[in-house]
Amino acid sequence: MARKILLIDDDRLQFRLTQANFKNFQGEHYELDWAETYEDGLTKLMGGGHVACLLDYQLGERDGLQLIRAAVALGCRTPIVFLTAETAERVDVAAMEAGALDYLVKGEITSRALERSLRYALKLGDTLEALRRLATRDQLTGLLNRREFDRIMTEEEERVRRFGHPLALVMVDVDHFKAVNDTHGHPAGDIVLREVARRVGGLVRSVDRVARYGGEEFAMILMQTDRASAMDVARRVCAAIEREPVLVSENLVLNLTVSAGVGTLPDDGKSGSALVAAADKALYAAKARGRNRAVGFNEL
Ligand code: GH3
Ligand code: MG
Ligand code: MG
Repeated sequence: MARKILLIDDDRLQFRLTQANFKNFQGEHYELDWAETYEDGLTKLMGGGHVACLLDYQLGERDGLQLIRAAVALGCRTPIVFLTAETAERVDVAAMEAGALDYLVKGEITSRALERSLRYALKLGDTLEALRRLATRDQLTGLLNRREFDRIMTEEEERVRRFGHPLALVMVDVDHFKAVNDTHGHPAGDIVLREVARRVGGLVRSVDRVARYGGEEFAMILMQTDRASAMDVARRVCAAIEREPVLVSENLVLNLTVSAGVGTLPDDGKSGSALVAAADKALYAAKARGRNRAVGFNEL
């Protein structure tokens, strides 16, 4: 299937010209998709089905710079090449600052220049994505790392304050994990952590976030979730680990359990750090009460 590129431009002629340029490409072949308005462009871009986007500066009442800023604020990762009508230097610089990866001056576009710019933007987009992944993910499990967890908590704490909907945090800790390392070695422990992470990560909705908080401790940030639903998730996590032994190798299968502590905003505190403290205390209680269970901060 041909890779799709989105052109956002209110000018039909530009669409025809771009189509003609695409036909002359020497290497890659792309399919050209077209959005004529700001709204349609933003919707299609956020749909995520395009490998790159060509974005015109002039778009009726609004302009391409506004569109880039809106898209970036919504979490858009699609590489964007900006198109400007003439050599308006300040627009070019502003576009790059807003997040465009390259820009082309409309009157000077040749198929070679366009093909090269797209190839470059795609390559740079891949590199940026890899860097983003390195900066935000835990290497062993692929879950979000602690730094990203902290960043998201700050963001969500603000959302709770502004919009008032609840936020839940489930802290999950593997029971007697040290014994796995001590008995079967660190590499076996790593395999266990990966499998626990996979199961924990598989239990949440796409809006939720799961991080590796520390060594064998995982944090589930559940968006717009109240205590009852969060307790449900926490119990399902415990069950998902207990139910099925972890296959470490052909001749090593381990029965494991986890404990979980649940805290919620705004009930259990005012800030992200208060939420972490609440979930942590509940987790500690789950350990003290016998492990392999979920405890809410309200039950302390
Ligand atoms: P509890 O039920 O009270 O949680 O006991 P525990 O043994 O799970 O807890 P403890 O905190 O004593 O031990 C956690 C262990 O996790 C100790 C540490 O060596 C190990 N650990 C931390 N990070 C990693 C890792 O990346 N890989 C492996 N294999 N082990 C790790
Ligand atoms: Mg533990
Ligand atoms: Mg621990």
